[in-house]
Amino acid sequence: MDIVVSNRVARVTPGGPMVGGLAAALLPAVEKSGVVWLGSSGNTRHIEPGDNPLVEVAGYGCGTIARVDLPEQHYGGYYEGYANSCLWPLLHARADIAHARAGDYASYCAVNAYMARTLAGFAAPESTFWIHDYHFLPLGRELRRLGVGEKIGFFLHTPWPERRVMAHLAQHRELTEAMLAYDLIGFQTDRDRDNFAAILRSVLHVPCEGHSFEGPYGTCRLATFPIGIDTDGFADSALKAAGDSDVHRLRASLSGAKLIVGVDRIDYSKGLGERLQAFDHLLDRYPKLKGRLSYLQVGVPSRSNIASYRALQQQLAAQVGDLNGRHGDIDWTPVRYLNKGFCQATLAGFYRAAAIGLVTPLKDGMNLVATEYVAAQNPADPGVLVLSKYAGAAQELDAALLVDPQDVEGMTRGIAQGLAMSFEERRARWQLMMDALLRNSIHAWFAGFMQALKTPAHRNVVPLQPTKAPPLRPAAARDAAWAAHP
Ligand code: UDP
Repeated sequence: MDIVVSNRVARVTPGGPMVGGLAAALLPAVEKSGVVWLGSSGNTRHIEPGDNPLVEVAGYGCGTIARVDLPEQHYGGYYEGYANSCLWPLLHARADIAHARAGDYASYCAVNAYMARTLAGFAAPESTFWIHDYHFLPLGRELRRLGVGEKIGFFLHTPWPERRVMAHLAQHRELTEAMLAYDLIGFQTDRDRDNFAAILRSVLHVPCEGHSFEGPYGTCRLATFPIGIDTDGFADSALKAAGDSDVHRLRASLSGAKLIVGVDRIDYSKGLGERLQAFDHLLDRYPKLKGRLSYLQVGVPSRSNIASYRALQQQLAAQVGDLNGRHGDIDWTPVRYLNKGFCQATLAGFYRAAAIGLVTPLKDGMNLVATEYVAAQNPADPGVLVLSKYAGAAQELDAALLVDPQDVEGMTRGIAQGLAMSFEERRARWQLMMDALLRNSIHAWFAGFMQALKTPAHRNVVPLQPTKAPPLRPAAARDAAWAAHP
């Protein structure tokens, strides 16, 4: 049995929005590959030792989705605290705003240990575990401490920054060392892999050969696995989206104007403020575009319990209001700014209607919106992707118009160049990007990582410390738990 773990699992409400790249990416892979996907239900409750943590198990395609409640006494310190106020900003090279309160790290470790105990209840002799993302950096070590000797892989969806940035994290040595418990660690780009390897080599002095490191639990390999999407499925949704009422209303409302589209969670890593400035400059520089161009920015509120996110929401709302007030007219609103999520089928239609896809994060692990925009285009009249060179997607989608999101003037020029691009150039660039996406679908990515993880490698399964954790539940009890949640 293969078990995939992430902080949240996707909501599978038909037609509902699915915000967040990880959930969006894993769902089609779980549906087809038949794995169990375990994550938090999004709910917390007081959890006594010995409580059965499973709240919901449901089939999804060939796979299974299992949700667990997390311990309420640790949730704030784990999620809003250590994971999203400390690790997330650091991983996106924002040491200036990274901070952890007293107790946040302890809560982060407590939730990792709790998740390990939950997972161990699923372990069968041939189980393979695949842990996802920065919420669970030390989960592999917690599993090893419980005596789990099966293969455990880890994939980081965010970037891994340079050594000097991670050095701001008080626990950077401890966490990096804990990650040696994984058999395989996957990164989005070679740069992220190399930044991580530099800490193992030069800070922790872990013996290595190439990208294989000898840790306390055996060999830990590092490799790059750029994540893909269900390219054919997305292209198909975009074609069918003409019948979607929101897409129809959007197209009708344009009255011949060209559309620029951006779709993001409201997060400081997405470069939304700089992007609005670039659009503002564009209208200053090319006033003839007024009335003939519309910019739709879907900005989905995210992590609103964190003060820096609430401040950004206010800042962007003010920026949009100011821009629309200065440039707008009785019959024309330059920026349509929507603080709500849409289902991917509708987004696919928005992308296809747009002459420009504007994806300009200051830092991003991959950025799936960039890949989705390309997949959704009409081959007979493809739009232009204006893409930040700091998104992981820029490695594969290098036929996009690459821009520096901190260079507002450069972004303005990029948008203008995209709007003026000939059909031949648009088509040639799109074809190159589409070929790259077709080569690396989400299904190939998922199977490729699993195959690499299962490749036999020498393993010395001796826990660092004698385990004090409860023994694994016997298979019969585990099966009964599953049977109770059909
Ligand atoms: N998304 C969605 N509905 C929305 C906004 C976004 O389903 O209203 C999805 C989008 O299609 C994409 C994901 O959320 O698959 C965002 O992933 P990305 O890698 O761009 O950014 P992240 O949010 O993971 O940082």
